[in-house]
Amino acid sequence: MKLYLVPTPIGNLDDITLRAIKVLQQADAILAEDTRTSGVLLRHLNISKPLHSYHIFNEHQTVQRLVNQLKEGKTLALVSDAGTPGISDPGFLLVRECIKNNIPVECLPGPTAFVPALVNSGLPNDRFTFEGFLPHKKGRQTRLTELAEEERTMVFYESPHRLLKTLQQFADVFGADRPASVSRELTKVFEENQRGPLSELIAYFAQKTIKGEIVICVQGREPKKSGRRSDQREGREIDNDDEDE
Ligand code: SAM
Repeated sequence: MKLYLVPTPIGNLDDITLRAIKVLQQADAILAEDTRTSGVLLRHLNISKPLHSYHIFNEHQTVQRLVNQLKEGKTLALVSDAGTPGISDPGFLLVRECIKNNIPVECLPGPTAFVPALVNSGLPNDRFTFEGFLPHKKGRQTRLTELAEEERTMVFYESPHRLLKTLQQFADVFGADRPASVSRELTKVFEENQRGPLSELIAYFAQKTIKGEIVICVQGREPKKSGRRSDQREGREIDNDDEDE
């Protein structure tokens, strides 16, 4: 009896881990956000298993049925179209329900888009906030106003057709000179990481047809004098020595 969350590649099939393959081979069934997309990966890996649909439109209804299967002793592996399930993808409800029912849950480490984007950005990453997709309409302005006070580097997921509009909104709220980065098509042949002030990123992407998948990182505001300062913000590497000072 166990639920595994299995990260899958975000663009480069070589990024599947050996343990991910093992867990997928040993599971009684695989739950997939889109059975066709995951079917391609499973065929590539020569894995043939019962494949069931678990996506945002049926999440609530299927959770109880899946909990029952797990309680009967089944091992299930949840995958999303790409990256880590539960990160801007379905998974949270099932994990929470399993925990409530004392069913063991294990998320394997593996591909996710925000980590390489954050590290590639060159912005301080000793403290950061993952914002995922901003609300499209309701609540968007409120969220941006809150984030104007944020001192940590912020990481956003965005679609290509909204990129320019979002960068412009960021420039309005955070200031056009705020350092930022746009990572496009991570791990794919045409991976691109553009870094610079928001004004430069806007000028660059305004001249392009923007395609592919995108992560935006934006440095936080200048720390207030009394706030806890980020080591990297001060130009230092993080000291991982966990002895008390
Ligand atoms: N579960 C995924 C993860 O762990 O990163 C995220 C899924 S979310 C539905 C899809 C978004 O992730 C895309 O719109 C994009 O913002 C980001 N993303 C996924 N793959 C990416 C890639 N190869 N390059 C850049 N961003 C990517």
